[in-house]
Amino acid sequence: MQLTARCPSCQQSIRTEVSQATVELNCPSCNWTRPVVRTDLGHPKATRCLACGCPDLWRQKDFPQRLGLLIVGLGALLSTIAWAYMLPVVAICILMAFALVDFLLYTLMKDVLVCYRCQACLGDSAVDEDHPRFTLEVAERYRQEEIRLKNSMNPQS
Ligand SMILES: [Zn+2]
Ligand SMILES: [Zn+2]
Repeated sequence: MQLTARCPSCQQSIRTEVSQATVELNCPSCNWTRPVVRTDLGHPKATRCLACGCPDLWRQKDFPQRLGLLIVGLGALLSTIAWAYMLPVVAICILMAFALVDFLLYTLMKDVLVCYRCQACLGDSAVDEDHPRFTLEVAERYRQEEIRLKNSMNPQS
């Protein structure tokens, strides 16, 4: 499966392919490594974050929001041009065509799992359809945990 994570040591992004044969993750920019826990890889679905071992992951579409906005924006622009040329039917057809493309792209996109703690992204062809989506409650729990962790590291602040 495809893993996109941020190196906890140097903050560089790491993109790598993790398989049953992968022994450890390593950062291309520094010396950070982390052994891959066999059970974290799941069978065949990932249950834990491979980068930090966090058991809470949310499911989302692997759809870049910017691309979606670009498609909608382009559709709106073209249809405005058609309106300007007094072609209302063409304008409406353009809008509908672009909305359809947007919808199709979204439906065809695969799901990915995102880690609540480190935001690592696990692209998996076999993401469970029943896997829970993002909830603010869990995200808040991890945010609090991070604040506590920071405070305990420098108690003066
Ligand atoms: Zn690094
Ligand atoms: Zn993580």
